[in-house]
Amino acid sequence: MFRLVLLGPPGAGKGTQARMIAGKYSIPHISTGDILRSNIKEETPYGVEAKGYMDKGELVPDELVIALLRTRLDEEDCKTGFLLDGFPRTVAQAERLDNYLKKRGCRIDMAIELDVAEDILLKRMVGRRVCRVCGATYHITHMPTRIEGVCDICGGETYQRADDTVETVHNRFIVYHKETAPLLDYYQTGGILNRFDGSKDPETIFESIVSVLGA
Ligand code: ADP
Ligand code: ADP
Ligand code: ZN
Repeated sequence: MFRLVLLGPPGAGKGTQARMIAGKYSIPHISTGDILRSNIKEETPYGVEAKGYMDKGELVPDELVIALLRTRLDEEDCKTGFLLDGFPRTVAQAERLDNYLKKRGCRIDMAIELDVAEDILLKRMVGRRVCRVCGATYHITHMPTRIEGVCDICGGETYQRADDTVETVHNRFIVYHKETAPLLDYYQTGGILNRFDGSKDPETIFESIVSVLGA
């Protein structure tokens, strides 16, 4: 029974670890990036507004993301725990999340930080491929699909995200340092931050996280 947040720069491996953690502890994996991308695909008013920001590597306005997240957290499967991936990304978002949980008599149990150097991040992001159908994430060299361009899990087509280009990635790093890195202090002060070396291989990182959360 955990309420967790995953923190780290773009490309740190949050989505990759989130899938493993959510699977092991049977909690929903909530990625605001995935929710936004599905709104773009379905051309909802939220998606239409968010697209311009995402394509430039800017953050989507807090109010929009918070509205989408609240709707998701209100669902039944989140009552007993969840794992947030890509939210919060600003201190204001973290405060709104804490207030939301406080009103329901609960709180975030742990913030998991994945720490990775920028040169590694860049290579991870430009080589990232995502399944259009199920959202599974691959890497052209680190974690290739068995058949090029085809998802191992569902057979869907894999693609490169519009914001995973060298130029946009650079802006996302700047935004991360300015807007999101201050969250590390926020959770450190709250006494719930745990840092992991995200440059290791996915299984090793996952084992370290499990050793802290408990088997
Ligand atoms: P994030 O959600 O933090 O942006 P992802 O989980 O999507 O990160 O990972 C970014 C890219 O790096 C993907 O292509 C993924 O396959 C790859 N990747 C994830 N974790 C690792 C790792 N520990 N070592 C090498 N490559 C990784
Ligand atoms: P990554 O895993 O590489 O960090 P995400 O999929 O989490 O990327 O996010 C992609 C984009 O979606 C971000 O660059 C941003 O534009 C938008 N986004 C996702 N989550 C948030 C959030 N909590 N607040 C504002 N914008 C967000
Ligand atoms: Zn798939």
